Amino acid sequence: MPKKTIREQILARRKYLSAEACLRDSLRAQDRLLATAEFAAAAAIALYSPISNELFTEEICHEALRQGKRVAYPRVAGDGLNFVEVGDLTELVPGAFGILEPSGSRVLPLSRLDMIVVPGVAFDLLGGRLGYGKGFYDRILHQQDAGWLVGLCFELQLADRLPTETHDVLMDLVVTDRRIVRPSKTCP
Ligand code: ADP
Ligand code: MG
Repeated sequence: MPKKTIREQILARRKYLSAEACLRDSLRAQDRLLATAEFAAAAAIALYSPISNELFTEEICHEALRQGKRVAYPRVAGDGLNFVEVGDLTELVPGAFGILEPSGSRVLPLSRLDMIVVPGVAFDLLGGRLGYGKGFYDRILHQQDAGWLVGLCFELQLADRLPTETHDVLMDLVVTDRRIVRPSKTCP
């Protein structure tokens, strides 16, 4: 099945998640991520601002800041992204595509980020990811080694196997409301 068809199908299903389910399952998935050794070890993490029933990230942000970690959010810059540090969520303002972006100027280079929580339309058991079709994360993460790449999504966004191309960057960890997938351990 082409990427475009899978995107449409999964987005259509995610759209019908109720506000209650979205909140409940977002909390479950975030709690799972917060309990990982990777999160505990990370001194600086990048999150994303959720749009249209994307899994929330606020709890991770609050807990990371509470633990004294550095937290950054992406800001579109041309056809790339900059990760800009925030002190709290009020520093996020509407930006490109109507997504909340950091308003500050403290750009953290990828090399300083120990964990990047990557948004996506779908993820698979091998760490494959389908984004919205613009390739933003593939382009920036392709350039150099970043820290742990974590796909965060609702269970309904997790597929056994997605079509991936050579430019698609693989996740090290996929976290849903039901489980954690560590692709390197499930690879054939
Ligand atoms: P998404 O990851 O958002 O689902 P795709 O993987 O289909 O989207 O990528 C969309 C487009 O982004 C690709 O067709 C390609 O033109 C561009 N792209 C992705 N990664 C790179 C890269 N590393 N270098 C240059 N262009 C890229
Ligand atoms: Mg891609």
